[in-house]
Amino acid sequence: RSKMKGGNSSSFYDPALQTLLENQTELETDIVRAIACDEFCAYFQPQLSIDGSIIGAEALIRWNHPTKGLISPNSFIPIAEQFGLIQKLQNIVLRDICILLETLRADDVLKNQFNVSINISQCQFNSSTLKGELFKAIETYDVLPSQIKLEITESMLAGDLMSTVKQMKELKSQGFVFSIDDFGTGYSCLKHLSVLPIDELKIDKSFIDKVLDNASGQSIVQSIIGLGHSLDINIVAEGVESAEQLHILKSMGVNAVQGFLFAKPLTHSNYLKWHKEHQ
Ligand code: C2E
Ligand code: MG
Ligand code: MG
Ligand code: MG
Repeated sequence: RSKMKGGNSSSFYDPALQTLLENQTELETDIVRAIACDEFCAYFQPQLSIDGSIIGAEALIRWNHPTKGLISPNSFIPIAEQFGLIQKLQNIVLRDICILLETLRADDVLKNQFNVSINISQCQFNSSTLKGELFKAIETYDVLPSQIKLEITESMLAGDLMSTVKQMKELKSQGFVFSIDDFGTGYSCLKHLSVLPIDELKIDKSFIDKVLDNASGQSIVQSIIGLGHSLDINIVAEGVESAEQLHILKSMGVNAVQGFLFAKPLTHSNYLKWHKEHQ
């Protein structure tokens, strides 16, 4: 029996909770429909080395809804995770990544040091199917593991570390690349960083936003860079929006950048166009 907030009456029925649950169920049904109707796809945001050459792209899922337009992943990824639909969405993104890599190669603009990153949900990373799906994709599309970068978050390192290390080492030994996304916002299990096969840390946008503000904004970024470099890990700044930010990040030793200053996430064909113009 739950007590309603601010009142003396008790009730089994909480209208706000009821609405929330109804909305979630509605969204779940709509995601299932949308998967069948092929409304999801990956967009691609370029990643550049600090001296401006293209080194990769991040795949970001988009929902092209027939009546609601383009929907941001923040509003449907948590529901997809909750209702066991994330694997299906991930496979769509994996497919689109492989198709992009094949197209770049066919057009003869694929460089050796180019990879596309995919955001991995915690529930996916813990699932036994991830490895199988990755291998299925690279075999179906004739893509190398080193062309795919797996973006995980700090919080995934806070769970069952033994199985996380095992999973990462296995995938790493096959050639897949690892990145820690939104670095600095989660549990900072700094001692874990040195035992994990991590290739890259992405400094969260919230820190990049403050890098021009004051000394403390800078010192946080500077210490992440120092930490990463001491462990031989590349540092990527995400959400770079201005030339001033780029300038200071370069002076601080950031290795690579991604953000609206260079390009927003682009459709497959717009990405190809961008890639060819900027290479
Ligand atoms: P994220 O992985 O940290 O991705 C970066 C987000 O910042 C993206 O938002 C991107 O569009 C946005 N962004 C990049 N540069 C800038 C900038 O300069 N300024 C601003 N204001 N924003 C910038 P998006 O695409 O809406 O994705 C949000 C989050 O949803 C992602 O954060 C990621 O956690 C999740 N996500 C996206 N795609 C997938 C996916 O395929 N699978 C899973 N599991 N999660 C995904
Ligand atoms: Mg990401
Ligand atoms: Mg990020
Ligand atoms: Mg983020």
